[in-house]
Amino acid sequence: MICKRIEYTDFRNIVNESIDFSPETTILYGKNAQGKTNMLEGVYIFAQGKSHRAGKDSELIRFGAERAKLSLRYESGGRENTLSLVIEDGKRKTTYKNGIKLDRLSEMIGNFRAVLFSPEHLAIVKAGPSERRAFLDVAISQLRPVYMRTLQRYNMILFQRNSLLKSMKYGASPSLTASLEAWSEQLSEYAARVAVVRAEYAEKLSGMTSELYSDMTGSRESVSISYHGTSRIGGDYGDEARVRSIYRRQLTENTDREILLGSTQYGVHKDDVDIMLNGREAKFFASQGQQRSIVLTLKLAEGEYSRRETGEYPVFLLDDILSELDPARRSYIISGIKDRQVIITSCDTSVKRRIRGGLSYYVKAGVPTAAKEQ
Ligand code: ATP
Ligand code: MG
Repeated sequence: MICKRIEYTDFRNIVNESIDFSPETTILYGKNAQGKTNMLEGVYIFAQGKSHRAGKDSELIRFGAERAKLSLRYESGGRENTLSLVIEDGKRKTTYKNGIKLDRLSEMIGNFRAVLFSPEHLAIVKAGPSERRAFLDVAISQLRPVYMRTLQRYNMILFQRNSLLKSMKYGASPSLTASLEAWSEQLSEYAARVAVVRAEYAEKLSGMTSELYSDMTGSRESVSISYHGTSRIGGDYGDEARVRSIYRRQLTENTDREILLGSTQYGVHKDDVDIMLNGREAKFFASQGQQRSIVLTLKLAEGEYSRRETGEYPVFLLDDILSELDPARRSYIISGIKDRQVIITSCDTSVKRRIRGGLSYYVKAGVPTAAKEQ
């Protein structure tokens, strides 16, 4: 996967600019608050379908402008394509592939694949389950577009079931009870589909992460990750029908409590991913450095797995993470990502010397200026 060029119009602090990327390394450097991360964010939106940091799409529109537009040209499997995206306040994003409007955002996901390394991700180990679920969901969606639609459907059913539970708080009736049963049935069907895919992905990633981890740290420590749904499933996600019946049982056995709380207490929106370091839960025992290494290797493993599934590496986007790493890990990452396309942001101009080849841009007030070849 090669990201060739991006054009920004009224996106964040960028008025109207474009960047041509090197097939190897492109460095965006400059002072704080100039738009380096904004430029990377614009690329990553095409992979994830939404920003990795904006809560609302409207935040992406340049202050005072009416709409933001992004257009990305990339090459995959020897073919060039263009994806575009228009963001307007209060409207759904519109997406285009080669100028043709796509019906759904989910049709865009999976076309352009990228792995983002961002300082926020260093929280994956320590933060709550939702960060870990999001990590899996984003990675899987890029490989399996159907997965994203399944997840969207799950969330829609969950929303309906929650509204029903809230209204049942003020009095149940046989018809409400029957609807609740119907929603529970549907929710468990989609829960099982989601859980089985997540568990399989976590298992695939686990071995690869462990290998990369000991490589990077030069240690014998082992890392493993596994999907953690309800304990009744017991780590065995091989049989979807069984997984489904377990979720269904939980959803039918505890409705009194759920009505009282007014929301669904069981299902894949509550699940987690266990990250273990030497057999112990990393979220409790990993040191800062170990957490950092775990997240970096998880991301490298994500890229590796994506290549195995699709035949090509995704584009690696590194948002200012090199400066946070010690020299050994930094050089491991730099050598670990050679032969693939990398886009790096940094405040530190010395990255230009450390990484040879490619292009660099000096970013100031939302304007990237190509630096002279060294
Ligand atoms: P750092 O090195 O500190 O990470 P950066 O170059 O990565 O800096 P960005 O996060 O890309 O900085 O850009 C931040 C700038 O973009 C801020 O000055 C912010 O006010 C501005 N900005 C963010 N959203 C918008 C918007 N919607 N319209 C205009 N400017 C915006
Ligand atoms: Mg930044």
